[in-house]
Amino acid sequence: MSAIASLFQEAARLAAGFRERAPARHVPRHDYAASLAAFDEPLPAAGADMAEVIRQLATDAEPGLHFTTGPRFFGWVIGGSHPVGVAADFLTSAWGQNAGNHVAAPAAAAVETIAARWLLDILQLPAESSVGFVTGATVANFTCLAAARGEVLRKAGWDADAKGLFGAPEITVLIGDDAHTTVFSALQFLGLGHDRVLRLPTDPMGRIDPAALGDALAPVSGPCIAILQAGQINTGGFDDFIRLIPGLREKGAWVHVDGAFGLWAQASEKFSHLSRGIEAADSWATDGHKWLQTPYDCGYAIVRNELAHRRAMTIAASYLPLAAAGERDPSHYVPELSRRARGFATWAMLKHLGRDGIAALIDQCCASARLLAEHLQREPGITILNEITLNQLILRFAADRPDDESDAITRETIAKIRDDATLFAGGAKWRGRDVLRLSVTNFQTTADEARRAAESIIAAFRSVSNDSRPH
Ligand SMILES: *Cc1c(COP(=O)(O)O)cnc(C)c1O
Repeated sequence: MSAIASLFQEAARLAAGFRERAPARHVPRHDYAASLAAFDEPLPAAGADMAEVIRQLATDAEPGLHFTTGPRFFGWVIGGSHPVGVAADFLTSAWGQNAGNHVAAPAAAAVETIAARWLLDILQLPAESSVGFVTGATVANFTCLAAARGEVLRKAGWDADAKGLFGAPEITVLIGDDAHTTVFSALQFLGLGHDRVLRLPTDPMGRIDPAALGDALAPVSGPCIAILQAGQINTGGFDDFIRLIPGLREKGAWVHVDGAFGLWAQASEKFSHLSRGIEAADSWATDGHKWLQTPYDCGYAIVRNELAHRRAMTIAASYLPLAAAGERDPSHYVPELSRRARGFATWAMLKHLGRDGIAALIDQCCASARLLAEHLQREPGITILNEITLNQLILRFAADRPDDESDAITRETIAKIRDDATLFAGGAKWRGRDVLRLSVTNFQTTADEARRAAESIIAAFRSVSNDSRPH
């Protein structure tokens, strides 16, 4: 066997071993400090054998790896890195394509063109939209909002892409109070400021209050960008696009939607009622590495007005071949020039699952979230705080006790769940109080897995609340 073949086989063997071994614990044995200790050595003077390096990497990294690829990982909102996406990503790395333009990487550019069309189809967004393949929803929000910034100022007679923001007409930025923190980062990167925004009040699900939007909008006359949300990180809540978008349109506002995971409700007949009217927006940010289960890093910046998208992102240089009419250069839609060919993993996931498989994936995650909630709320002392409309669930323990006590018990129960290590879930703050957050975003989280997770959570809570009773 050639050296390359045996090296690649070794990597594949190690990767499959990690995925197939049922972990004894669903949380890492190593924290950051222990992982640091495992790797900490001076820069080696002499090199090492290729296969040895890869084996050592696996040995030293594995104790510090989260089992995010498994069925009982409910932390943050993290997809499962589906094997087909992983295999496509192996090839992507092996091929070493620079996906910047269609001359340097014809197949990568072509696959992005097709994957973009399929994404617009499954997400039921306007077919004329352009799609940038970015690292994730953070950069997707940034990219879409860059297009928004350019276009609302262009309409006011100002070329922001050329002249910047000094001297430009002011832009009113409207955003819900429960928007994701990364959207505020995007505004910061764009010179729009994370505090220089009008934050709109929200309801208990984190949805913008339509009346408050109306009030905020009334005095607006100049350039305006409104940022709505599909899938609030804690509650899974969706803004009411049908009620919100027409008034914004009347004012000539650019409407952007952060749908990092929630946009995928569009792919399911059972859940697309949540996102009704979303196609009337101007841009949408979403992730591949959450609900589509591609490996990290993979997100999509989708913009209805292709020219506005391209104006904001195009890197023009004389040595770069221009795309002819009908050709598509991947770099025209993203901030980077040289980059990974992200379209291959996206294409592979869409091809493997198909329309029906994606709908079934969304439905299974949501059904498992509902089942988790049903089991958990039967336990006295567990209070589910959100309506389970999608895949997100937040709850509090001992909510009948004073807030501070309930906070403490909630935190202790989360710690106990981690110690028990049959699942992983994290804490969050919601309306200033501690909550346990469960996100069902893994293709393997079946009803059985959800039931098992619920039992473990209940057992952890019982043990904590027995300990916390006054003796
Ligand atoms: C995850 C998430 C983001 C950020 O996405 P990344 O993929 O982490 O960059 C933005 N908005 C929402 C609602 C999210 O859930």
